[in-house]
Amino acid sequence: MTYDDSNVFAKILRGELPCHKVYEDDKTFAFMDIMPRAHGHTLVIPKSAATDLIDVSPETLCDTVRTVQRIAPAIRDSMEADGLLIQQFNGAAAGQTVFHVHFHIIPRFEGVALLPHAGDMGDPEVLAVNAEKIRQAIEAA
Ligand code: AMP
Repeated sequence: MTYDDSNVFAKILRGELPCHKVYEDDKTFAFMDIMPRAHGHTLVIPKSAATDLIDVSPETLCDTVRTVQRIAPAIRDSMEADGLLIQQFNGAAAGQTVFHVHFHIIPRFEGVALLPHAGDMGDPEVLAVNAEKIRQAIEAA
């Protein structure tokens, strides 16, 4: 599949769409999922173009996973989560809806079921509060 730079994450990277950013470095970017499956649901993407895990270069994949590992503890601790689910979808048949490779970091709480994938829009105020907590925890780490 050819990369289409009109996808929403490419627009977020270009600043054409807003997002609740929690982390950025020269290679990667992380922000709140707008339809969170749980409090603190965060997405990590590379800044360079790639549709999925097959398309992305090994170097960029490493950069992206390093960011997942780097910010995961801050997400877990700031959300007071019991665990973290890391998810990554490849192709529409597998559930991928945005064709810019990304990792989901989804806090899990004992006894709390996950909301549906790409279900309802999150409350913007809650997204902003959670993003701020996560940003502060990353900065403090
Ligand atoms: P996937 O289905 O794995 O491709 O995941 C795409 C994710 O992007 C879904 O969980 C959506 O809720 C999320 N999403 C879609 N549009 C936006 C947006 N504008 N800002 C933040 N997250 C988004």
